[in-house]
Amino acid sequence: MNYDVLIIGAGPGGIFSAYEAVKLNPGVKIGVFEAGNPLEKRKCPIDGKNIKSCVNCPTCGIMNGFGGAGAFSDGKYNITNQFGGTLYEYVGKQEAIELMQYVDTINVKYGGQDTKLYSTENTHLKKLCLQNDLHLLDASVRHLGTDINYIVLQNLYNELKDKVDFHFLTRIERVEKTEDGFRIHSQKESFNGRTCIISTGRSGSKWMGDICRSLHIQTRSNRVDIGVRVELPAEVFSHLTDELYESKIVYRTEKFQDLVRTFCMNPRGVVVSENTNGIVTVNGHSYEDPSRYSENTNFALLVSNHFSEPFNDSNAYGESIARLSNMLGGGVIVQRFGDLIRGQRSTQSRIEDSFVEPTLSATPGDLSLVIPKRQLDGIIEMIYALDKVAPGTANDSTLLYGVEVKFYNLDVEVDEHLETSQKGLFVIGDCSGVTHSLSHASASGVHVARYLFGKETKQTMKITQ
Ligand SMILES: Cc1cc2nc3c(=O)[nH]c(=O)nc-3n(C[C@H](O)[C@H](O)[C@H](O)COP(=O)(O)OP(=O)(O)OC[C@H]3O[C@@H](n4cnc5c(N)ncnc54)[C@H](O)[C@@H]3O)c2cc1C
Repeated sequence: MNYDVLIIGAGPGGIFSAYEAVKLNPGVKIGVFEAGNPLEKRKCPIDGKNIKSCVNCPTCGIMNGFGGAGAFSDGKYNITNQFGGTLYEYVGKQEAIELMQYVDTINVKYGGQDTKLYSTENTHLKKLCLQNDLHLLDASVRHLGTDINYIVLQNLYNELKDKVDFHFLTRIERVEKTEDGFRIHSQKESFNGRTCIISTGRSGSKWMGDICRSLHIQTRSNRVDIGVRVELPAEVFSHLTDELYESKIVYRTEKFQDLVRTFCMNPRGVVVSENTNGIVTVNGHSYEDPSRYSENTNFALLVSNHFSEPFNDSNAYGESIARLSNMLGGGVIVQRFGDLIRGQRSTQSRIEDSFVEPTLSATPGDLSLVIPKRQLDGIIEMIYALDKVAPGTANDSTLLYGVEVKFYNLDVEVDEHLETSQKGLFVIGDCSGVTHSLSHASASGVHVARYLFGKETKQTMKITQ
């Protein structure tokens, strides 16, 4: 089967590159190849009753399928160059923001029209943070919520389904360079394309490494973030979340001079477990619909770890720590902050006695047996620092779930068009290492489609007749 463009992965990167390509060039023949299911068939079997932990489905309902890892996410589209990726290093700061703003208009058009755009502009909270040696990063954030995010994805699929060939449950195993383009191979079939856009996200990161090796494309891996997910009564953070929804706050620890930051804040949300390539870690999300609010707010506290030579497999380091927690807790471990400080494990009865009711059923345990001292000290320091701007953060009953690991994909060597040294092969979204978020991943897809089909570019691709 022949296409103009082969897109591997139907996460935000893949979807937005397909969307923009058909918009700019309605006759283009695009094949999208996705390892997971269509949106409506994506389902995680964990129901909390009969199935309580991950059963390692052949394709993960949470991570794979139309919408990618973002499908059941909180749908927070952050418009900023300060976090979420380094797209601006490739396309320029102004262009990166414009691309993200464009993505926002599409989300609004396809179902997000009643959602709110929050902003850190003119907030007094910045000063409050600075007075306590905490640094609030600048951003606008569109919070779609898990429910509206799903509707936007449904609408985008309906828009695209007659213009693009979707091949679901089609995991691409190999990418081969041919004389006039690329040939990609699933277990059963092969497909040819003049151009190939790879957008396989975090779940496709190991695979991406193999593809790069086979096509002699350079990569690097030197960063992983390790931490916990904090859960506390929503009132403790309400002055921040009511105004900003999500606040990205950075702190430099006194002891090790490491950077610790808040990440993925979910006001009145729930904590969830997630399975990446068989390793169970923790995450969180929240709903736009008030009837689905919980009593709690959750967010991650992450310590950034950068490694230098000779070590070059930062993800393996993060995986080892996550495995240790999986080994001790059978999955995610939960501990009260007070227990951690007293040097005792949390037990079921201590968690039940707590003033904070957990939203995730996790194994009570001792995070100090899992998280290395350097990172754990950083997390504790940051909790006390946050307590100054949000008193109550360091309460005894604050719950800590571990471990939360933010794996960074290999940095794939790409140019300003996100094109690799193999001409016609583009790597976008989280699998490129350039992005780590919904808005950056989506924007990277738009950027490549515009390069291929935009009127202004020299590249404008001729399409198959
Ligand atoms: C629970 C959760 C909550 C999150 N919340 C937020 C949030 O609120 N805001 C935010 O900015 N980010 C959030 N994120 C991160 C965000 O989802 C990702 O940054 C984003 O989805 C990346 O988009 P992508 O297109 O690069 O990759 P992905 O969304 O990961 O999509 C990649 C797709 O490629 C497919 N694939 C992989 N390998 C292959 C292969 N070999 N062949 C065919 N298909 C393949 C996968 O099945 C997947 O569907 C969250 C992530 C999770 C897991």
